[in-house]
Amino acid sequence: MTGILVLVATPIGNLGDLSPRAREEFERADRVLCEDTRRTRALLSACGIPAGGRLMSLHEHNEGARIDAVLDALGRGERICVVSDAGTPGISDPGSLLVAAAVASGVDVTTVPGPSALLGAIVVSGLPTDRFVMEGFLPRKGAERTERIAGLTTETRTVVLYESPRRVAATMADLAASLDADRPVVVVRELTKIHEEIWRGTLVEAVAHYDGLEVRGEVVVVLGGATIAIRPEPDDEEILAAIEASLAKGMSTKDAARAVAESLKLPRRRVYQLATERAPGSPR
Ligand code: SAM
Repeated sequence: MTGILVLVATPIGNLGDLSPRAREEFERADRVLCEDTRRTRALLSACGIPAGGRLMSLHEHNEGARIDAVLDALGRGERICVVSDAGTPGISDPGSLLVAAAVASGVDVTTVPGPSALLGAIVVSGLPTDRFVMEGFLPRKGAERTERIAGLTTETRTVVLYESPRRVAATMADLAASLDADRPVVVVRELTKIHEEIWRGTLVEAVAHYDGLEVRGEVVVVLGGATIAIRPEPDDEEILAAIEASLAKGMSTKDAARAVAESLKLPRRRVYQLATERAPGSPR
């Protein structure tokens, strides 16, 4: 007899977003693993569901140490919910280590999907949603932060970042300093709450807007992907024009072919062949 691990999403601000299935799971669960037992007890009590002795903490500092005990309980057939303080567990929140261990042990894992700051922010951003990348929280400082930001220079997918309200201005400044400052950015704050706010602009505008501004509440930053101009392969006419320009400067056919091949990043052989066959003034 094996149990089941159920990852249950909980509201990111509006209690009305707790789904009927989430309530059912809380009623049925033998155990509810939660980031903060006081917070989850309050959530269950707001739904009229007695927590009893079913709550057990599972946070970033004890997730690894709890795994064996949880697997034992699953092995005894328990139905165990995992919740975080808000949103979907396992996304910048505890849960993913336990899921990996459960999968490795052959335990069934399922979810009650629902609120997610990541998905909520990207769908309201207005930026492309067909391909995106979740960067979570950026490192606060040092080489690790610099490298992670530098890695976004050529990232063409939309980028989602979780951020502390106190660090929005610094993050905008760091992003604008390292990336194309005209990249679009959307700052999604207090989603589903009374003071929900969605700010849209470019990185350079964001630096001006957030400089010295006291930001409150919870924030997700959605950054537009890089638009990297991909140069099309030059056609014969473009290559010939470059060869003629070099020949007109008095270069030999061989030197002209070498110079053009280097500047257009083409195989020298191809350019030399065109130069000898087609360029006027070159040896036939
Ligand atoms: N696992 C959660 C989820 O999927 O929604 C996210 C947990 S992460 C520790 C918390 C971060 O989510 C916050 O720092 C903020 O970046 C974002 N967040 C949570 N609730 C939010 C809200 N109502 N509005 C905007 N961002 C929110």
